Amino acid sequence: MAYYIRDSLHELAALGARRPTINEFFLSSYTLSIYNGCEFGCPYCDSWLFSDRPLNETIRVPLDLPERLAAELTEVDRGDLIALNTLSDPYQPAEQVYRLTRRSLQVLADCGQPTLVLTKSPDVLEDVAILQRIHEQSLAVVMTTLLTTDPRLASQLEGKAPPPALRLEMLSELKRAGIPVGVAIVPIMPYINDTDGMLRNLLRACAEIAVDFVIWDYLHIPNRRHRMRINEIVTRLNAYPASYYDDIYGDQPVVSALYRQERNSKMISRCDGLGLEIRAPHQLFANRLAPNNEAALFLKHMAFRDRVNGRDKIAALHQKLADQIYEGVIDTKALHQSPFYPTVGPILGLP
Ligand code: SF4
Repeated sequence: MAYYIRDSLHELAALGARRPTINEFFLSSYTLSIYNGCEFGCPYCDSWLFSDRPLNETIRVPLDLPERLAAELTEVDRGDLIALNTLSDPYQPAEQVYRLTRRSLQVLADCGQPTLVLTKSPDVLEDVAILQRIHEQSLAVVMTTLLTTDPRLASQLEGKAPPPALRLEMLSELKRAGIPVGVAIVPIMPYINDTDGMLRNLLRACAEIAVDFVIWDYLHIPNRRHRMRINEIVTRLNAYPASYYDDIYGDQPVVSALYRQERNSKMISRCDGLGLEIRAPHQLFANRLAPNNEAALFLKHMAFRDRVNGRDKIAALHQKLADQIYEGVIDTKALHQSPFYPTVGPILGLP
């Protein structure tokens, strides 16, 4: 068990600053980290980079967070979504003791603030009534991260988190309760969970329970310390030498563009074949977010598919328009050039 430090936020804000661009994976304009540290301690997690102590050993518990959040929400647009998805799992074991996530969700529900929760823990089901209250007013989405359906690999990669089968059951139950659900296949790790068979099984499992959407992204290796941690996982889990990563990462933090392009194409065609949405579908957030956010997300989601299919020019146009619209700048002339004007124009109240 981790060591809990009861603390306060001190001079820190509960919410981060409004994002400069809307997050197309999580639909978010703001992120909210409830606990500082994560007892699940998955070795591939980016949060290790931001922790001065082992991520899973010391958990700071900011007891005043819900009250501070309530005060900060007075300055937040009710059409901006807040994602509980950063640096720690909001339903890690500390939540059973301190209930900061529950109290924060109650604050969000009191305001009807659109909210997304990313968690690996079925404990989120204990708060389904609060999520329903949010969803009745605006939008509540729950996502889980899944790297594999193979229980053995999952226990090697993230043994302290609830197993994949439980997470899938959790999503089914949330769906039955009327809460939209998504799966984040993050990270896809070369030589570990990126084989065709593994990804096929994972997407099939998502399709079987009819998740509303999936997203995916690739392992990020931003510094030498993280690279050593990843090398250790690669060596421990399979017969590949860690040096294989040099071929596809070189000294870069992101995997090569060629690798991403090939994987993205395959993932899209598999999802299409299974009837799985990539990124949250428009009808999921239509009329539930601020119009500018809705339009920006719609365009960004279309741009992703166009980019992967090699339609770079139109993808760049939609990406740029999306970022401008999110900031409140509407270039009607450029917007008229978009084939999606008939959808986006009315969202923005344009003729
Ligand atoms: S549960 Fe999420 S936040 Fe916690 S260590 Fe694992 S990946 Fe990181």
